[in-house]
Amino acid sequence: MELVLTNLLLIALGGSLGSLASMLIYRLPIENSEITIFYPRSFCPLCKNQLTIVQLIPFVGYLLSRGTCRTCNAKISYSYLIHEALIAAFILFIFNIMEFTNLSAWVIVLIVISLYIQSIIDIQTLHLFQPLSIILMIAGLLLNISTGFFTIPLDALLGLIFGYGILFCINHVHKMMRSIDGIGSGDFLLLGGIGAVFGASAIGPILLIGSSITLCLYVFNKNKDKELPLGFGLGLAGIFYCLIFISI
Ligand SMILES: [Zn+2]
Repeated sequence: MELVLTNLLLIALGGSLGSLASMLIYRLPIENSEITIFYPRSFCPLCKNQLTIVQLIPFVGYLLSRGTCRTCNAKISYSYLIHEALIAAFILFIFNIMEFTNLSAWVIVLIVISLYIQSIIDIQTLHLFQPLSIILMIAGLLLNISTGFFTIPLDALLGLIFGYGILFCINHVHKMMRSIDGIGSGDFLLLGGIGAVFGASAIGPILLIGSSITLCLYVFNKNKDKELPLGFGLGLAGIFYCLIFISI
C-alpha cells in the first residue's frame, strides 16, 4: 500500500514537473518581451484566456477539458499530456533507483528535464535555447570538479572540449565543401554541455545514439529537404545515457 501511495505521489510530482517543462518549452524560444517564464499566467494560445486552477492540474486538467479550451473550444495540443507522462515516467524511474532524500537524485532530475526541454524545443523550432546549454556546461564542470558527480574533473573538461570541438570540426569540413553550415552552433554548445556533465568517454555513445535517433526522423519524414534536429537526438541520447548510468 505504501509503495502504491509513493508511486502515485511520484507520478503527481512528475506530472507537475512535466507541466513546468511544457511551459518552458513553449516560452523559452519566444522572443516577445511580453511573454516571459514568469509572466503572464498560463493561457490558451488562441483566445488568450487564462487557464483556471483546475485546468492547470497535471493530467486531470487536460483530461477533464478533453483537450479543448473551455472558452473558445480550440484543440489543445496533446503534447502537453505527453510531456507530463514522460517526465512522470523519468521521475518514477529515478526515484525507484535512488532515495527521495538523496540530493544527487534531484540533480539527475534537473539534468534529465533540461535535456528533455532542449530536445523538444529543437524538434519544434529547429533551434536550441543556448543559455540552457551554457548552464549545463557550467553545472557539469562544477559538479564534477567539486564532487566527481559523474566523472573525474579532467574527463569533464575534455568532454566539454571534445563535445563542442567534434561538431565544430565536422561543420567546418562541411562548410569548406558545400559553403553552407551543416550543423547549427546550438548543437556544438549542447554536446559541449553534455560532455561537461557526463565526460569525454560519454561523447562517443551519445553522439552515435543521438545521430541515429535524428537519422530515424529523416527516414520517417516525408519532406526530405527539411533541416534535421540533431539536438533532439543528442538530448534524448543524453537522457538515456544518464538513466542507464544510474541503473548500473
Ligand atoms: Zn481558447
